[in-house]
Amino acid sequence: VDENYDVIVIGGGAGGVAASIRSSQLGAKVAVVEENKLGGFCMNSGCVPFGHMMVASRILGDLAVAKEMGIVCSSVSKDVATLQNRQKELIAFMQQGVRTLFGKRKIALIAGRARLSGAGRVEVGGKSISAKAVILAVGAQWVKSDFVGNDLPEVVHSGYFLTAKDLPTRCLVYGGGPWSVEVAQYLNRFGSQVWLVTQEESVLPEESKAVCSRLAKALQTQGISLIAGSRDLTVRKKSKGVEAVMMVKDEEQSLQVDRVITIRRTAAVMDLGLETVGVNVKAGFVQVNERMETESKGLYAIGDITGPEKRHYSHIASAEGVVAAENVMGLSRVFDERAAARIIFTSPQVASVGLTGKEAKSMGYEAVTGAAPLSMNTFGMMTAQTEGLVEVVADKRYGEILGVHMIGHSACEMIGQAVLAIQQEMTLEELGQIPFPHPTLSESVAEAARDALGAAIYLP
Ligand SMILES: Cc1cc2nc3c(=O)[nH]c(=O)nc-3n(C[C@H](O)[C@H](O)[C@H](O)COP(=O)(O)OP(=O)(O)OC[C@H]3O[C@@H](n4cnc5c(N)ncnc54)[C@H](O)[C@@H]3O)c2cc1C
Repeated sequence: VDENYDVIVIGGGAGGVAASIRSSQLGAKVAVVEENKLGGFCMNSGCVPFGHMMVASRILGDLAVAKEMGIVCSSVSKDVATLQNRQKELIAFMQQGVRTLFGKRKIALIAGRARLSGAGRVEVGGKSISAKAVILAVGAQWVKSDFVGNDLPEVVHSGYFLTAKDLPTRCLVYGGGPWSVEVAQYLNRFGSQVWLVTQEESVLPEESKAVCSRLAKALQTQGISLIAGSRDLTVRKKSKGVEAVMMVKDEEQSLQVDRVITIRRTAAVMDLGLETVGVNVKAGFVQVNERMETESKGLYAIGDITGPEKRHYSHIASAEGVVAAENVMGLSRVFDERAAARIIFTSPQVASVGLTGKEAKSMGYEAVTGAAPLSMNTFGMMTAQTEGLVEVVADKRYGEILGVHMIGHSACEMIGQAVLAIQQEMTLEELGQIPFPHPTLSESVAEAARDALGAAIYLP
C-alpha cells in the first residue's frame, strides 16, 4: 500500500464533496479520487449549467409580465455564446471554491479513475491506497433511449447544449422527467420549435395530477407541442436533419427535426471492482441501508449510484454524503427518505416532496388533500404568476403531512418549507397556523393545509 487514509471518497461530485468535508471536520484524514472534473456532474454538466440556462429562460418569460406593467423591451436579442461564457466563469469560480475548501482542510485530491481491490483498498493510477472506510460517490452515466436510430449523430443528450454554438431550429425532446422539461423550455424560449414526446400520458407520470395538468397547459401555452402516448419511435437520417416517425394513438405521426434529445441516466456501477468486496448490483444500482452502508463492511455509497433515475438529485447526494461521513466517524445518523424533494426549474417551477394522494391511498392511508391555487394568492396576482397551486396531502387520522406538491413561481424555494414540515412530522393544524409573511406565495402553503381541514380563509 502506497498511502493510508481514514476515509477515501471515490468521486468528487455533489455527494463526494459533502462527504469528504464532513469526514474531515470530524477529524478524518481524507482523500478524494476524481477521474474527471471536480464538482462532478452537478456542477459541471447538470444543476449549475442547466439551472443557469433556466434563469435566462425565466428572464425571457418575465418580459411578457413586464409588458403588462408597462415595461416594454422593443427588441430582445439572445446570445447563446454570452450565456455559455458566463456559465463557464460561474463553474470555474465554484470549482475554485471547492479546491479552496479542500486545501483548507488538507483533503488530498487524487486525479484518476479509482477501482476497489478488496476491503478498504483502492487502486488509482498504478498506486494502491487504503482506508478504514471507503465512500462510493461515482454518480450516474448516460444510457441510450431505446428506439431505432438512437445512435445517429443528431441524437444527443443534454451535454450537447453546454457547448453548441447554435441551437437547433426544430427539436424533438424524447421522454419526460424533470431535465427533459427544462431543456424543452430552454430551447423554446431561445427560439427553437420544440416537440416534447413521451410514451406515458404525462411528462411527469409519478407526480400529482393537479400539478402535471397545470404544467402541461403552461408548456403548451408557451408554444411547446406535447405528444403523449407515443409508441415505436424510429429516427431516420434525411438530407437535412432527421425524420422522427412514431405511432400516436394508432396514427402514424412524422416530424422533421434537426436534433433529437434524450436525457436518461443510470447508476454508474460498471468497472468499480465491486466484485472484489462482494457487492452485487443486480438491482442496477448499489443498495444501501438508511445509514448509507452497503453489504460490504466499511464500504458506503451515496448519491446517484444508490438508486434509480427518479431519485437522482444533487441535494439527496450531498445529504447522504453527510450521513455517510458521520456514520464512518462513529456518529449514528440516518437519511430521512421522506424528506427527499423533487424539483424542476421551469417557469412555472415544479417542486414536490413526499406522497401524492394516490400513493398515500395505495399505502393504506386514509388520505385527505387540500389545495390553494395561486390565482387566489395576493403575490401571485401582483406578479401575474397565477397559474400555479400548492397541494397538501395528509393522513386524515392524525393530520400528519405526507406530501406537498407545488407548481408556480419560486416553488423550488418554497418546497424547503414542506421538507421541514415533513421532517418535523408536522400536522395540518400546525402548518395551517404558520403566519407566513404577506404578500408572499408561501401564504398558500398554510392555506392549502387549512383547506385540507375545511378551514381555508381566502378560498371561495
Ligand atoms: C440535465 C441535468 C440537470 C440536472 N439538474 C439538477 C438540479 O437542478 N438539481 C438537482 O438536485 N439535481 C440535478 N440533476 C441531477 C444531479 O446532477 C445528480 O443527481 C448529482 O450530480 C448526483 O451527485 P453524485 O455525487 O451522486 O454524482 P456526480 O455529481 O455525478 O459525481 C460523481 C463523480 O464521480 C466521478 N467518478 C465516477 N467514477 C469514478 C471512478 N471510478 N473514479 C474516480 N472518479 C469517478 C465522476 O467523474 C463525477 O465527477 C441534473 C441532472 C441532469 C442530467
